[in-house]
Amino acid sequence: MPNLGIYIQVPFCQTRCTYCNFHTGVVSSGRFAPYAEAVSREIAGHRSLYDAAGVRLSLESDSRVVDTVYIGGGTPSLLDPMLLRSMVAAIRATFPCQWREVTLEADPETITPEKASAWAAAGVNRISFGVQSFVDSELAAAGRMHRRDDVYRAVPILRDAGIANISFDLIAGLPHQTGESWGHSLAELVSLEPEHVSVYLLEVDEGSRLGKEVLTGGSRYSATALPSDDDMAAFYEAAGEALAKAGYHHYEISNWAKPGFESAHNLKYWRREPYFGFGAGAHSFSGSQRWANAHDAAAYVHSISGANRLPIEQLESVTNTQALDEELFLGLRQLDGVDLKKIERAYGVELHGKIVPLEAAGLIERDGDTIRLAPGKLSISNEAFVHLLG
Ligand code: SF4
Repeated sequence: MPNLGIYIQVPFCQTRCTYCNFHTGVVSSGRFAPYAEAVSREIAGHRSLYDAAGVRLSLESDSRVVDTVYIGGGTPSLLDPMLLRSMVAAIRATFPCQWREVTLEADPETITPEKASAWAAAGVNRISFGVQSFVDSELAAAGRMHRRDDVYRAVPILRDAGIANISFDLIAGLPHQTGESWGHSLAELVSLEPEHVSVYLLEVDEGSRLGKEVLTGGSRYSATALPSDDDMAAFYEAAGEALAKAGYHHYEISNWAKPGFESAHNLKYWRREPYFGFGAGAHSFSGSQRWANAHDAAAYVHSISGANRLPIEQLESVTNTQALDEELFLGLRQLDGVDLKKIERAYGVELHGKIVPLEAAGLIERDGDTIRLAPGKLSISNEAFVHLLG
């Protein structure tokens, strides 16, 4: 029986980045404590809350050991560490725990020695760090709060606090980014020696300020300075080369790690292992059902703390067809690829007819029973997925 992962969503930010349309809010800090209290209640009472909401947990799921925790957002590093500690304590008090990875997402400008020590004392052993770029003009245009110097200030603070596993996020495709500035960001990243790196291609949400400017015109958010798709593909390739040269192993489309530092929590998503998500907008997967909490943080707090009711927005049983699609879609995100025969046996299907055209188009490589996305095609993987699942 696979272990359980736990995700906690903290949907608060200091400001709104220009490209972002996540369900996060810039709210008064007075709302943080009631939110953390509601999350702790949801964790402690999850069994009965799930029952009442129609989530069916198997009996043996009670004995699943929690081995990974991921506190994401939003900007969870904004919270008073005591609030983070209380949510982590609720997990410890509710589930059998043998923690190997406890990740906190943190923005560089929010990090202080006091916070870093308190995080480590609470059990956090991995920081996922929203660096995005080392070029101040790109950070400013994207509406980020931090600057390059904040990253250099924060990393030694985290190391001094005993955090031995740091992940950096970079975004390829920010306004004003060029091949030269991207190379500069990669070189600075490598020089700081994080254990793990995520590189995301910028997806401009239509509802974000930048997205609206792309659609309707204007210059306030630098929509006209967005790199082209070809530029972004070149940035992605350059990242792969620079990171491979620096000793990072490319294990998932967007993720690279030093040996042994692959994200244990995120691997659960790609391997379809179970995880419970707590907090507004958090998603969960039991193995047979998927569900998500309502996004609105105030409504979430009201529902949990006021009405003792889980505000579930989506609850669905995963059909055999959906599970097969997920195996392929999520499996191909991993550079190790997918064992075709194993999947065919597990689902009683024959996938040869789907794979041959993808192979012929150069999107998929086959190595015995294993298929994987072709090198050089990883940044256009959506195309492969659409074909595969079509
Ligand atoms: S910090 Fe993250 S979640 Fe918050 S506004 Fe920026 S991109 Fe969105």
